[in-house]
Amino acid sequence: MPTIQTLRTQIDSLNLRLLEVLSERAKLAEEIGELQTQIGTAHYDPVREAEMLDTLTQANSGPFTDATVKSLFKSIFQASMQLENESDKVKYLTSRQTHREDTVVYLGDVPIGSTHSPVLVAGPCSIESKEQMEAVAKFVAERGVKLLRGGAFKPRTDPYSFQGLGVEGLKLGREVCDRYDLKFISEIMDAADLDAFVEYADMLQIGARNMQNFTLLKAVGRSKKPVLLKRGLSATIEEWVMAAEYLLYEGNENVVLCERGIRTYEKYTRNTLDVSAVALAKLETHLPVLVDVTHSGGRQDLLIPLTKAGLAIGADGIMIEVHPNPAVALSDNKQQVDFETFDKYLEETGYHKKLSQKRHEVYGF
Ligand code: PEP
Ligand code: MN
Repeated sequence: MPTIQTLRTQIDSLNLRLLEVLSERAKLAEEIGELQTQIGTAHYDPVREAEMLDTLTQANSGPFTDATVKSLFKSIFQASMQLENESDKVKYLTSRQTHREDTVVYLGDVPIGSTHSPVLVAGPCSIESKEQMEAVAKFVAERGVKLLRGGAFKPRTDPYSFQGLGVEGLKLGREVCDRYDLKFISEIMDAADLDAFVEYADMLQIGARNMQNFTLLKAVGRSKKPVLLKRGLSATIEEWVMAAEYLLYEGNENVVLCERGIRTYEKYTRNTLDVSAVALAKLETHLPVLVDVTHSGGRQDLLIPLTKAGLAIGADGIMIEVHPNPAVALSDNKQQVDFETFDKYLEETGYHKKLSQKRHEVYGF
């Protein structure tokens, strides 16, 4: 009499053989699925399925009943079909399913993302003059800020308002960044300016109004320069992530997303900071995410709470506008903070420490 143990050992080895045969079958089914996709026919073929079940029940000599054999094989057919349908799905480069690890984007030696300390991007809305840039660069660099922002090409709602200094502005930004060991972030609006941006900037910002400018996305994607992709004014998270997909598809993996508030019915704020979008962008994609607290609230008195909210939900950094004399700024003069307010901001958000610590030392996660 065989013992239960010896019979179980035989079952174990049969299980492995079955698995081997099932896997071999699944691979063949996948190959058939690929051919079907190529010629555009459906994966499910009821006539073929009925034929296979007929052949199987005719060959069945027990102990399973025909119904049981049918049900077992139907499960196998279904599992194969699932595989075929899965491989039809586009593998998005931005997706965590394609790329599990957090992406870290480097601006020179400054890392953004994953376990690195949250960055702070500070600087004026617009680059206005050599004196302004000198003052702001010196001031923020002394406080440990490594990333300077400043717009040279400005997307203004009103065509009669200040449009930016153009390439001259980019040169001013580069000059002060080199002097104070800062990395320079500036918004590109037109693919025709790409060469100048590649020469003068360290990171190209694609603004909210250009998030779906696909020609620009493709051109910037081909450039491989780090990109800061703002969320469009009324863009869904999916549209935002798809815009990032364009950049990755073109070969640029150095993409940082930036939530900057979306348009809602609310009037107390300029936009509504969508904090869940920050968490979702980090769950769905592997890209770092920043929060722009200046444009999302549009209010100085919200800068600190929005910064805390952004960091608490997992943002990899914050963007804030600072200007030597906001009252006379040529754009966003109500929202930019002066130097004194910026110092208070650093103090109250704990950013002066965050700029020198590791993320887990700051948050414990
Ligand atoms: C900016 O950062 O200066 C800007 C114009 O931002 P947004 O595109 O988010 O409005
Ligand atoms: Mn601005």
